[in-house]
Amino acid sequence: MNLKIYNSLYGEKEIFKPLHDNNVGMYVCGPTVYSNVHLGNVRTFMSFDFIYRTLTFLGYKVRYVRNITDAGHLTDDGDVDNDRFVKQSRLEKLEPMEIVQKYTVDFHQVLDTFNLLPPTIEPTATGHIMEQIELAQKLIEKGYAYESNGSVYFDVMEYNRRGLNYGELSRRNIEELFANTRDLDGQNEKRNPQDFALWKAASPAHIMRWNSPWGEGFPGWHLECTAMSTKYLGEKFDIHGGGMDLKFPHHECEVAQGKACNNTEPVNYWMHANMLTMNGQRMSKSTGNYILPMELVSGNNNFFEKPFHPSVVRFNFMQAHYRSVLDISNEAMVASEKGYQRLMEAIKVAADLPILKEENATHQSASFDVRQWKQKCLEALTDDFNSPILISHLFEAVNFIFKLKDGKETVSRGDLEELKQLMHDFVYDVLGLQNIEENNNEKLDQTLQVLIELRNQARKAKNFELSDQIRDRLLAEGIELKDGREGTTYMIL
Ligand code: AMP
Ligand code: ZN
Repeated sequence: MNLKIYNSLYGEKEIFKPLHDNNVGMYVCGPTVYSNVHLGNVRTFMSFDFIYRTLTFLGYKVRYVRNITDAGHLTDDGDVDNDRFVKQSRLEKLEPMEIVQKYTVDFHQVLDTFNLLPPTIEPTATGHIMEQIELAQKLIEKGYAYESNGSVYFDVMEYNRRGLNYGELSRRNIEELFANTRDLDGQNEKRNPQDFALWKAASPAHIMRWNSPWGEGFPGWHLECTAMSTKYLGEKFDIHGGGMDLKFPHHECEVAQGKACNNTEPVNYWMHANMLTMNGQRMSKSTGNYILPMELVSGNNNFFEKPFHPSVVRFNFMQAHYRSVLDISNEAMVASEKGYQRLMEAIKVAADLPILKEENATHQSASFDVRQWKQKCLEALTDDFNSPILISHLFEAVNFIFKLKDGKETVSRGDLEELKQLMHDFVYDVLGLQNIEENNNEKLDQTLQVLIELRNQARKAKNFELSDQIRDRLLAEGIELKDGREGTTYMIL
Protein backbone atom coordinates (compact mmCIF):
# COMPACT_ATOMS: atom_id res chain seq x y z
CA MET A 1 0.00 0.00 0.00
CA ASN A 2 1.37 3.43 -0.94
CA LEU A 3 1.92 5.91 1.85
CA LYS A 4 0.66 9.39 0.97
CA ILE A 5 2.07 12.44 2.74
CA TYR A 6 0.85 16.02 2.49
CA ASN A 7 3.91 17.96 1.43
CA SER A 8 3.77 21.61 2.53
CA LEU A 9 6.33 22.48 -0.14
CA TYR A 10 3.88 21.73 -2.95
CA GLY A 11 0.60 22.01 -1.02
CA GLU A 12 -0.63 18.52 -1.93
CA LYS A 13 -0.52 14.87 -0.95
CA GLU A 14 2.24 12.89 -2.60
CA ILE A 15 3.25 9.25 -2.67
CA PHE A 16 6.11 8.85 -0.24
CA LYS A 17 9.36 7.55 -1.69
CA PRO A 18 12.29 7.45 0.73
CA LEU A 19 15.68 8.39 -0.69
CA HIS A 20 17.40 5.24 0.54
CA ASP A 21 15.32 2.06 0.19
CA ASN A 22 13.45 1.43 3.39
CA ASN A 23 15.36 3.94 5.50
CA VAL A 24 13.73 7.22 6.43
CA GLY A 25 15.54 10.31 7.70
CA MET A 26 13.25 12.58 9.71
CA TYR A 27 14.16 15.86 11.40
CA VAL A 28 11.79 17.69 13.75
CA CYS A 29 12.54 21.08 15.29
CA GLY A 30 12.84 20.61 19.03
CA PRO A 31 12.00 22.92 21.92
CA THR A 32 13.75 26.09 22.96
CA VAL A 33 14.62 25.16 26.52
CA TYR A 34 14.37 28.47 28.35
CA SER A 35 11.04 27.70 30.03
CA ASN A 36 8.50 24.88 30.47
CA VAL A 37 6.85 23.48 27.37
CA HIS A 38 3.11 24.21 27.23
CA LEU A 39 0.41 21.82 26.11
CA GLY A 40 0.46 23.27 22.58
CA ASN A 41 4.13 22.36 22.19
CA VAL A 42 3.28 18.85 23.39
CA ARG A 43 0.66 18.51 20.67
CA THR A 44 3.21 19.18 17.93
CA PHE A 45 5.75 16.74 19.39
CA MET A 46 3.01 14.15 19.84
CA SER A 47 1.91 14.55 16.22
CA PHE A 48 5.42 13.68 15.10
CA ASP A 49 5.66 10.88 17.65
CA PHE A 50 2.56 9.37 16.03
CA ILE A 51 4.09 9.85 12.58
CA TYR A 52 7.32 8.20 13.78
CA ARG A 53 5.38 5.29 15.30
CA THR A 54 3.33 4.86 12.12
CA LEU A 55 6.37 4.87 9.85
CA THR A 56 7.99 2.24 12.08
CA PHE A 57 4.79 0.18 12.12
CA LEU A 58 4.65 0.31 8.32
CA GLY A 59 8.13 -1.25 8.23
CA TYR A 60 10.41 1.74 7.67
CA LYS A 61 13.65 2.06 9.57
CA VAL A 62 13.56 5.63 10.80
CA ARG A 63 16.45 7.79 11.90
CA TYR A 64 14.57 10.40 13.89
CA VAL A 65 16.51 13.54 14.81
CA ARG A 66 14.91 16.10 17.13
CA ASN A 67 17.16 18.86 18.38
CA ILE A 68 17.31 20.87 21.57
CA THR A 69 17.65 24.61 20.98
CA ASP A 70 19.83 25.61 23.92
CA ALA A 71 21.35 28.73 22.39
CA GLY A 72 20.74 30.93 19.42
CA HIS A 73 19.61 34.24 18.15
CA LEU A 74 15.84 34.01 18.50
CA THR A 75 14.51 37.50 18.98
CA ASP A 76 13.50 39.91 16.29
CA ASP A 77 13.02 42.97 18.43
CA GLY A 78 16.45 44.37 17.73
CA ASP A 79 17.79 43.92 21.24
CA VAL A 80 20.79 41.63 21.01
CA ASP A 81 21.01 41.41 24.82
CA ASN A 82 17.45 40.27 24.96
CA ASP A 83 18.53 36.65 24.66
CA ARG A 84 15.81 34.44 26.15
CA PHE A 85 18.25 32.16 27.96
CA VAL A 86 20.16 35.06 29.47
CA LYS A 87 16.95 36.87 30.44
CA GLN A 88 15.56 33.78 32.15
CA SER A 89 18.85 33.10 33.92
CA ARG A 90 18.75 36.60 35.41
CA LEU A 91 15.16 36.09 36.47
CA GLU A 92 15.83 32.75 38.15
CA LYS A 93 19.33 33.65 39.34
CA LEU A 94 20.82 30.63 37.57
CA GLU A 95 23.58 30.15 35.00
CA PRO A 96 22.22 30.05 31.43
CA MET A 97 23.32 26.41 31.18
CA GLU A 98 21.44 25.67 34.41
CA ILE A 99 18.35 27.08 32.74
CA VAL A 100 19.02 24.84 29.75
CA GLN A 101 19.46 21.78 31.96
CA LYS A 102 16.40 22.51 34.09
CA TYR A 103 14.04 22.88 31.14
CA THR A 104 15.57 20.04 29.13
CA VAL A 105 14.88 17.72 32.06
CA ASP A 106 11.33 19.11 32.32
CA PHE A 107 10.79 18.60 28.59
CA HIS A 108 11.87 14.96 28.76
CA GLN A 109 9.72 14.27 31.81
CA VAL A 110 6.66 15.79 30.16
CA LEU A 111 7.10 13.83 26.92
CA ASP A 112 7.68 10.65 28.90
CA THR A 113 4.44 11.25 30.82
CA PHE A 114 2.55 11.32 27.51
CA ASN A 115 4.37 8.21 26.30
CA LEU A 116 6.33 9.83 23.47
CA LEU A 117 9.24 7.75 22.23
CA PRO A 118 12.66 9.41 22.38
CA PRO A 119 14.16 10.39 19.01
CA THR A 120 17.07 8.28 17.81
CA ILE A 121 19.39 11.32 17.92
CA GLU A 122 18.84 14.41 20.07
CA PRO A 123 21.56 16.94 19.23
CA THR A 124 21.97 20.31 20.93
CA ALA A 125 22.77 23.64 19.29
CA THR A 126 25.65 24.32 21.70
CA GLY A 127 27.17 20.96 20.78
CA HIS A 128 27.32 22.00 17.12
CA ILE A 129 28.86 25.47 17.15
CA MET A 130 31.76 24.40 14.90
CA GLU A 131 29.41 23.00 12.28
CA GLN A 132 27.43 26.23 12.29
CA ILE A 133 30.55 28.37 11.88
CA GLU A 134 31.65 26.16 8.97
CA LEU A 135 28.27 26.56 7.28
CA ALA A 136 28.38 30.34 7.68
CA GLN A 137 31.90 30.37 6.19
CA LYS A 138 30.77 28.27 3.26
CA LEU A 139 27.85 30.61 2.61
CA ILE A 140 30.20 33.63 2.67
CA GLU A 141 32.60 31.87 0.26
CA LYS A 142 29.76 31.10 -2.13
CA GLY A 143 28.61 34.72 -2.04
CA TYR A 144 25.32 34.09 -0.24
CA ALA A 145 26.31 35.72 3.04
CA TYR A 146 28.29 38.70 4.26
CA GLU A 147 29.92 39.84 7.46
CA SER A 148 28.90 43.09 9.10
CA ASN A 149 30.14 44.38 12.48
CA GLY A 150 31.09 40.88 13.64
CA SER A 151 27.74 39.40 12.61
CA VAL A 152 27.06 37.32 9.51
CA TYR A 153 23.86 37.69 7.48
CA PHE A 154 22.31 35.65 4.73
CA ASP A 155 21.85 37.78 1.61
CA VAL A 156 18.27 37.11 0.54
CA MET A 157 18.42 39.46 -2.46
CA GLU A 158 21.53 37.71 -3.82
CA TYR A 159 19.84 34.35 -3.34
CA ASN A 160 16.91 35.51 -5.39
CA ARG A 161 19.12 37.15 -7.98
CA ARG A 162 20.51 33.69 -8.66
CA GLY A 163 16.99 32.44 -9.29
CA LEU A 164 16.60 30.46 -6.09
CA ASN A 165 13.19 31.81 -5.06
CA TYR A 166 13.13 32.82 -1.39
CA GLY A 167 9.58 32.30 -0.13
CA GLU A 168 8.86 29.04 -2.00
CA LEU A 169 7.89 27.08 1.12
CA SER A 170 5.62 29.67 2.72
CA ARG A 171 4.48 30.86 -0.70
CA ARG A 172 5.41 34.42 -0.05
CA ASN A 173 6.31 36.92 -2.62
CA ILE A 174 9.69 38.49 -2.01
CA GLU A 175 8.64 41.98 -3.14
CA GLU A 176 5.81 41.93 -0.61
CA LEU A 177 8.19 40.73 2.05
CA PHE A 178 10.52 43.61 1.41
CA ALA A 179 7.68 46.11 1.41
CA ASN A 180 6.30 44.86 4.73
CA THR A 181 9.43 44.49 6.80
CA ARG A 182 10.79 47.02 9.19
CA ASP A 183 14.42 46.61 10.01
CA LEU A 184 14.41 46.23 13.76
CA ASP A 185 16.75 43.33 14.10
CA GLY A 186 19.88 44.22 12.21
CA GLN A 187 19.89 47.96 12.95
CA ASN A 188 21.41 49.00 9.65
CA GLU A 189 23.94 46.17 9.71
CA LYS A 190 21.99 44.39 7.02
CA ARG A 191 21.94 45.09 3.31
CA ASN A 192 18.22 44.30 3.24
CA PRO A 193 15.67 44.01 6.03
CA GLN A 194 14.81 40.45 4.98
CA ASP A 195 18.40 39.23 5.47
CA PHE A 196 18.64 36.95 8.48
CA ALA A 197 21.43 36.34 10.98
CA LEU A 198 23.64 33.27 10.59
CA TRP A 199 25.94 34.48 13.34
CA LYS A 200 25.46 37.33 15.77
CA ALA A 201 28.23 39.34 17.44
CA ALA A 202 27.94 39.20 21.24
CA SER A 203 27.77 42.47 23.15
CA PRO A 204 29.87 42.62 26.35
CA ALA A 205 26.80 41.74 28.46
CA HIS A 206 26.08 38.58 26.49
CA ILE A 207 27.19 35.55 28.52
CA MET A 208 26.60 32.73 26.02
CA ARG A 209 29.39 33.38 23.51
CA TRP A 210 31.83 31.46 21.37
CA ASN A 211 34.93 32.33 19.34
CA SER A 212 34.51 32.60 15.61
CA PRO A 213 36.40 34.02 12.62
CA TRP A 214 34.24 37.15 13.09
CA GLY A 215 34.92 37.64 16.80
CA GLU A 216 32.97 36.36 19.79
CA GLY A 217 29.33 35.69 19.16
CA PHE A 218 26.59 33.11 19.00
CA PRO A 219 24.76 31.29 16.20
CA GLY A 220 21.50 32.13 14.49
CA TRP A 221 18.56 29.86 15.24
CA HIS A 222 17.83 28.97 11.59
CA LEU A 223 21.39 27.85 11.01
CA GLU A 224 21.31 25.39 13.93
CA CYS A 225 18.71 23.22 12.32
CA THR A 226 20.50 23.17 8.97
CA ALA A 227 23.76 22.23 10.72
CA MET A 228 22.25 19.42 12.78
CA SER A 229 19.88 18.00 10.17
CA THR A 230 22.50 17.79 7.42
CA LYS A 231 25.14 16.41 9.80
CA TYR A 232 23.01 13.42 10.80
CA LEU A 233 20.74 12.95 7.79
CA GLY A 234 22.73 14.26 4.83
CA GLU A 235 22.52 17.30 2.53
CA LYS A 236 19.16 16.03 1.32
CA PHE A 237 16.85 13.98 3.50
CA ASP A 238 13.30 12.67 3.54
CA ILE A 239 11.10 14.45 6.08
CA HIS A 240 11.36 17.72 7.99
CA GLY A 241 8.67 18.57 10.51
CA GLY A 242 7.64 21.23 12.97
CA GLY A 243 4.68 23.33 14.01
CA MET A 244 2.83 25.38 11.38
CA ASP A 245 4.15 28.60 12.92
CA LEU A 246 7.72 27.60 12.08
CA LYS A 247 7.09 27.54 8.33
CA PHE A 248 8.05 31.18 8.08
CA PRO A 249 10.65 32.42 8.63
CA HIS A 250 12.39 29.44 10.29
CA HIS A 251 11.84 26.72 7.71
CA GLU A 252 11.95 29.12 4.78
CA CYS A 253 15.43 30.13 5.98
CA GLU A 254 16.44 26.47 6.33
CA VAL A 255 15.43 25.85 2.71
CA ALA A 256 17.47 28.88 1.60
CA GLN A 257 20.54 27.84 3.62
CA GLY A 258 20.38 24.27 2.35
CA LYS A 259 19.93 25.22 -1.30
CA ALA A 260 22.63 27.88 -1.17
CA CYS A 261 25.12 25.54 0.52
CA ASN A 262 24.50 22.30 -1.33
CA ASN A 263 22.73 23.24 -4.59
CA THR A 264 19.79 21.01 -3.75
CA GLU A 265 16.43 21.20 -1.98
CA PRO A 266 17.43 20.01 1.49
CA VAL A 267 14.14 18.27 2.24
CA ASN A 268 11.88 16.05 0.12
CA TYR A 269 8.74 16.26 2.29
CA TRP A 270 8.00 19.22 4.55
CA MET A 271 5.37 18.40 7.15
CA HIS A 272 3.64 20.95 9.37
CA ALA A 273 1.51 20.14 12.39
CA ASN A 274 -1.38 22.40 13.24
CA MET A 275 -1.91 24.38 16.42
CA LEU A 276 -3.63 23.62 19.68
CA THR A 277 -6.11 26.28 20.71
CA MET A 278 -7.87 26.83 24.01
CA ASN A 279 -11.16 28.72 24.06
CA GLY A 280 -10.68 29.27 20.34
CA GLN A 281 -7.38 31.08 20.75
CA ARG A 282 -3.97 29.73 19.90
CA MET A 283 -2.13 28.42 22.93
CA SER A 284 0.91 30.55 23.56
CA LYS A 285 2.95 31.72 26.51
CA SER A 286 3.14 35.28 25.32
CA THR A 287 -0.65 35.85 25.41
CA GLY A 288 -1.12 33.96 28.68
CA ASN A 289 -3.61 31.60 26.97
CA TYR A 290 -1.85 28.39 27.92
CA ILE A 291 -1.87 25.47 30.28
CA LEU A 292 1.13 23.43 31.35
CA PRO A 293 0.82 19.71 30.56
CA MET A 294 1.21 18.64 34.19
CA GLU A 295 -1.47 21.11 35.28
CA LEU A 296 -3.95 19.28 33.08
CA VAL A 297 -2.85 15.92 34.48
CA SER A 298 -2.92 17.01 38.12
CA GLY A 299 -6.14 19.02 37.80
CA ASN A 300 -4.35 22.02 39.26
CA ASN A 301 -5.67 24.66 36.83
CA ASN A 302 -8.55 27.06 36.25
CA PHE A 303 -9.73 25.70 32.90
CA PHE A 304 -10.80 22.12 33.51
CA GLU A 305 -13.24 20.62 36.01
CA LYS A 306 -11.12 17.61 36.87
CA PRO A 307 -7.71 16.00 36.26
CA PHE A 308 -7.20 13.92 33.11
CA HIS A 309 -4.88 10.97 32.73
CA PRO A 310 -2.05 11.54 30.19
CA SER A 311 -3.40 8.72 28.02
CA VAL A 312 -6.81 10.41 27.88
CA VAL A 313 -5.08 13.62 26.78
CA ARG A 314 -3.20 11.63 24.17
CA PHE A 315 -6.43 10.02 22.97
CA ASN A 316 -8.02 13.47 22.70
CA PHE A 317 -5.11 14.75 20.60
CA MET A 318 -5.19 11.67 18.36
CA GLN A 319 -8.89 12.27 17.64
CA ALA A 320 -7.86 15.23 15.48
CA HIS A 321 -5.79 14.97 12.31
CA TYR A 322 -2.34 16.48 12.75
CA ARG A 323 -3.07 19.11 10.06
CA SER A 324 -6.30 20.30 11.72
CA VAL A 325 -6.55 22.90 14.43
CA LEU A 326 -7.54 21.25 17.72
CA ASP A 327 -9.44 23.16 20.38
CA ILE A 328 -9.12 21.76 23.86
CA SER A 329 -12.07 22.16 26.20
CA ASN A 330 -13.52 20.56 29.29
CA GLU A 331 -16.41 19.05 27.32
CA ALA A 332 -14.13 17.52 24.70
CA MET A 333 -11.85 16.05 27.36
CA VAL A 334 -14.78 14.47 29.23
CA ALA A 335 -16.03 12.95 25.97
CA SER A 336 -12.54 11.65 25.17
CA GLU A 337 -12.30 10.07 28.60
CA LYS A 338 -15.51 8.11 27.95
CA GLY A 339 -14.30 7.00 24.54
CA TYR A 340 -10.92 6.00 25.88
CA GLN A 341 -12.51 3.93 28.67
CA ARG A 342 -14.76 2.12 26.20
CA LEU A 343 -11.78 1.33 24.00
CA MET A 344 -9.81 -0.09 26.94
CA GLU A 345 -12.85 -2.01 28.17
CA ALA A 346 -13.21 -3.61 24.73
CA ILE A 347 -9.58 -4.74 24.76
CA LYS A 348 -10.14 -6.32 28.17
CA VAL A 349 -13.41 -7.95 27.06
CA ALA A 350 -11.68 -9.37 23.96
CA ALA A 351 -8.91 -10.85 26.12
CA ASP A 352 -11.47 -12.46 28.46
CA LEU A 353 -13.78 -13.86 25.78
CA PRO A 354 -14.28 -17.55 26.54
CA ILE A 355 -12.35 -19.97 24.34
CA LEU A 356 -14.69 -20.85 21.51
CA LYS A 357 -16.21 -24.30 21.57
CA GLU A 358 -14.88 -26.54 18.83
CA GLU A 359 -18.12 -26.55 16.85
CA ASN A 360 -18.17 -22.71 16.79
CA ALA A 361 -14.49 -22.11 16.30
CA THR A 362 -14.65 -21.76 12.54
CA HIS A 363 -17.75 -19.58 12.28
CA GLN A 364 -17.24 -16.47 10.23
CA SER A 365 -18.86 -13.27 11.41
CA ALA A 366 -21.82 -12.16 9.34
CA SER A 367 -21.19 -8.44 9.68
CA PHE A 368 -17.51 -7.95 10.49
CA ASP A 369 -14.65 -9.03 8.26
CA VAL A 370 -11.34 -8.75 10.12
CA ARG A 371 -9.22 -8.64 6.97
CA GLN A 372 -11.32 -5.91 5.37
CA TRP A 373 -11.26 -3.99 8.62
CA LYS A 374 -7.47 -4.23 8.81
CA GLN A 375 -7.28 -2.92 5.28
CA LYS A 376 -9.41 0.11 6.17
CA CYS A 377 -7.23 0.85 9.22
CA LEU A 378 -4.10 0.70 7.06
CA GLU A 379 -5.72 2.94 4.46
CA ALA A 380 -6.37 5.56 7.17
CA LEU A 381 -2.79 5.39 8.38
CA THR A 382 -1.32 5.61 4.91
CA ASP A 383 -3.61 8.48 3.90
CA ASP A 384 -1.39 11.18 5.43
CA PHE A 385 -1.48 9.63 8.92
CA ASN A 386 -5.21 9.99 9.48
CA SER A 387 -5.57 9.15 13.16
CA PRO A 388 -9.26 10.21 13.57
CA ILE A 389 -10.33 7.88 10.76
CA LEU A 390 -8.23 5.09 12.27
CA ILE A 391 -9.98 5.68 15.62
CA SER A 392 -13.41 5.55 13.99
CA HIS A 393 -12.48 2.13 12.55
CA LEU A 394 -11.23 1.01 15.95
CA PHE A 395 -14.69 1.75 17.34
CA GLU A 396 -16.29 -0.50 14.72
CA ALA A 397 -14.15 -3.26 16.19
CA VAL A 398 -15.11 -2.16 19.71
CA ASN A 399 -18.82 -2.54 18.89
CA PHE A 400 -18.15 -5.94 17.35
CA ILE A 401 -16.28 -7.11 20.46
CA PHE A 402 -19.19 -6.12 22.72
CA LYS A 403 -21.58 -8.00 20.42
CA LEU A 404 -19.36 -11.07 20.73
CA LYS A 405 -19.50 -10.76 24.48
CA ASP A 406 -23.29 -10.58 24.41
CA GLY A 407 -23.44 -13.61 22.14
CA LYS A 408 -24.97 -11.56 19.30
CA GLU A 409 -22.08 -12.27 16.94
CA THR A 410 -19.75 -15.11 16.08
CA VAL A 411 -16.14 -15.16 14.96
CA SER A 412 -13.64 -17.79 13.99
CA ARG A 413 -10.81 -18.52 16.42
CA GLY A 414 -8.16 -17.31 13.98
CA ASP A 415 -10.03 -14.09 13.23
CA LEU A 416 -10.44 -13.33 16.90
CA GLU A 417 -6.71 -13.81 17.53
CA GLU A 418 -5.87 -11.54 14.60
CA LEU A 419 -8.35 -8.90 15.76
CA LYS A 420 -6.89 -8.90 19.27
CA GLN A 421 -3.34 -8.56 17.95
CA LEU A 422 -4.27 -5.73 15.59
CA MET A 423 -6.17 -3.83 18.28
CA HIS A 424 -3.07 -4.11 20.44
CA ASP A 425 -0.82 -2.86 17.62
CA PHE A 426 -3.01 0.09 16.65
CA VAL A 427 -3.94 1.20 20.16
CA TYR A 428 -0.64 0.76 21.98
CA ASP A 429 2.10 0.78 19.36
CA VAL A 430 0.73 3.21 16.78
CA LEU A 431 -1.49 5.59 18.76
CA GLY A 432 0.80 5.29 21.78
CA LEU A 433 -2.05 4.91 24.30
CA GLN A 434 -1.44 3.16 27.58
CA ASN A 435 -3.60 0.98 29.73
CA ILE A 436 -4.11 2.97 32.92
CA GLU A 437 -4.81 -0.10 35.08
CA GLU A 438 -1.71 -2.01 33.99
CA ASN A 439 0.31 1.14 34.40
CA ASN A 440 -0.97 1.68 37.92
CA ASN A 441 0.04 -1.86 38.90
CA GLU A 442 3.53 -1.22 37.63
CA LYS A 443 3.70 2.04 39.59
CA LEU A 444 2.49 0.29 42.76
CA ASP A 445 5.18 -2.33 42.38
CA GLN A 446 7.88 0.31 41.93
CA THR A 447 6.63 2.20 44.99
CA LEU A 448 6.65 -0.93 47.14
CA GLN A 449 10.20 -1.74 46.04
CA VAL A 450 11.24 1.73 47.21
CA LEU A 451 9.61 1.15 50.60
CA ILE A 452 11.27 -2.28 50.95
CA GLU A 453 14.64 -0.73 50.20
CA LEU A 454 14.10 2.05 52.75
CA ARG A 455 13.08 -0.54 55.35
CA ASN A 456 16.26 -2.53 54.66
CA GLN A 457 18.34 0.61 55.07
CA ALA A 458 16.61 1.36 58.38
CA ARG A 459 17.32 -2.19 59.58
CA LYS A 460 20.96 -1.93 58.60
CA ALA A 461 21.21 1.29 60.58
CA LYS A 462 19.55 -0.54 63.50
CA ASN A 463 16.64 1.87 63.32
CA PHE A 464 14.13 -0.88 64.14
CA GLU A 465 11.49 1.57 65.16
CA LEU A 466 11.33 2.91 61.59
CA SER A 467 11.66 -0.50 59.91
CA ASP A 468 8.80 -1.91 62.02
CA GLN A 469 6.72 1.14 61.34
CA ILE A 470 7.07 0.65 57.58
CA ARG A 471 6.08 -3.03 57.90
CA ASP A 472 3.11 -2.34 60.23
CA ARG A 473 1.72 0.55 58.28
CA LEU A 474 1.86 -1.39 55.03
CA LEU A 475 0.09 -4.27 56.77
CA ALA A 476 -2.61 -1.87 57.94
CA GLU A 477 -3.09 -0.96 54.24
CA GLY A 478 -3.42 -4.65 53.37
CA ILE A 479 0.11 -5.28 52.11
CA GLU A 480 2.16 -7.92 53.90
CA LEU A 481 5.98 -7.95 53.71
CA LYS A 482 7.69 -11.31 53.96
CA ASP A 483 11.40 -11.67 54.68
CA GLY A 484 13.03 -14.69 53.07
CA ARG A 485 16.46 -15.88 51.98
CA GLU A 486 16.03 -14.26 48.56
CA GLY A 487 15.13 -10.91 50.11
CA THR A 488 11.85 -9.28 50.97
CA THR A 489 8.71 -9.87 48.97
CA TYR A 490 5.21 -8.49 49.39
CA MET A 491 1.74 -9.89 49.20
CA ILE A 492 -1.41 -7.84 48.62
CA LEU A 493 -4.01 -9.25 51.03
P1 AMP B 1 9.30 26.45 20.54
O1 AMP B 1 9.97 25.86 21.75
O2 AMP B 1 8.64 27.76 20.82
O3 AMP B 1 10.21 26.49 19.33
O4 AMP B 1 8.08 25.48 20.14
C1 AMP B 1 8.24 24.11 20.01
C2 AMP B 1 7.22 23.56 19.03
O5 AMP B 1 5.89 23.78 19.49
C3 AMP B 1 7.30 24.20 17.65
O6 AMP B 1 7.24 23.18 16.67
C4 AMP B 1 6.07 25.08 17.58
O7 AMP B 1 5.58 25.18 16.27
C5 AMP B 1 5.10 24.29 18.43
N1 AMP B 1 3.98 25.09 18.98
C6 AMP B 1 4.03 26.30 19.57
N2 AMP B 1 2.77 26.72 19.93
C7 AMP B 1 1.92 25.72 19.60
C8 AMP B 1 0.50 25.51 19.71
N3 AMP B 1 -0.32 26.40 20.27
N4 AMP B 1 -0.01 24.35 19.23
C9 AMP B 1 0.79 23.41 18.66
N5 AMP B 1 2.13 23.55 18.53
C10 AMP B 1 2.70 24.68 18.99
ZN1 ZN C 1 14.34 24.13 13.47
